[in-house]
Amino acid sequence: MIEINNVSKYYGDLIALKNINLKLKEGETHVFIGSSGSGKSTLLRLLSGLIEADEGEIRLNGELISNSIQKNLSSRIGYVIQEGGLFPHFSGRENLALAAKLASWSPSRITARISELCQLVQLEQRFLEHFPKELSGGQRQRIALMRALMLDPPLVLLDEPLGALDPLVRSELQRELKRIFNLVKKTVVMVTHDVGEAAFFGHSLSLFDEGILIQHGDFKSFIKKPANEFVTRFIRAQVPPLELLELI
Ligand code: ADP
Ligand code: MG
Repeated sequence: MIEINNVSKYYGDLIALKNINLKLKEGETHVFIGSSGSGKSTLLRLLSGLIEADEGEIRLNGELISNSIQKNLSSRIGYVIQEGGLFPHFSGRENLALAAKLASWSPSRITARISELCQLVQLEQRFLEHFPKELSGGQRQRIALMRALMLDPPLVLLDEPLGALDPLVRSELQRELKRIFNLVKKTVVMVTHDVGEAAFFGHSLSLFDEGILIQHGDFKSFIKKPANEFVTRFIRAQVPPLELLELI
């Protein structure tokens, strides 16, 4: 269980997040949606422990995130940042091995885990010898996901993991990711600005606007009981009425 209690985050005069309260259940996929600049990535970064809240606290299974970081962050939280974030001067394989080496894994254990993950994300191992710029967007995203899963963390954070992909690859990877999430039974928090994607993945959705949490619940509740006019406008802007019927 992730508990976000009265969390606010400021950048100078800008209120990036204002008094956020959220509980996210273990083993489920939670999606943050909202327009660009609404605070989604900031909240994900707070969950990752990379930045700290100015007010409030975040607990992971009862423990403050800031404490849990001191206890070997990357084995507890896997994080795919917006744009994937692979190191450009390392091959795919080197990107994958990095955290495992730091955790003193043996070379044979690293090799075995990498081949297991290649099967999971259905990537041919030969692509791992390439540098990120020599790979397609879909291949890079698969490797970024593998890197996040490498140490088998219970919590996986994904910031617009499919954002930069063309529509066909995107829909293929969406189905693939959902299959993986069901298989590995992890707690996943994903950021997207795409309502269809949020409905497809999310056990719960949280809609943000200008740093404020507008509504939290399953997709159906956004349609049946929108918190306000903004919720309805946000969803209608992306999903035509007939498709909505298919999503709920
Ligand atoms: P989203 O991911 O929803 O697009 P972000 O969380 O990235 O939004 O940003 C929320 C707000 O905080 C935006 O107005 C953004 O410009 C601002 N912001 C984000 N990171 C920083 C930073 N490091 N310094 C200053 N402002 C920031
Ligand atoms: Mg963002």
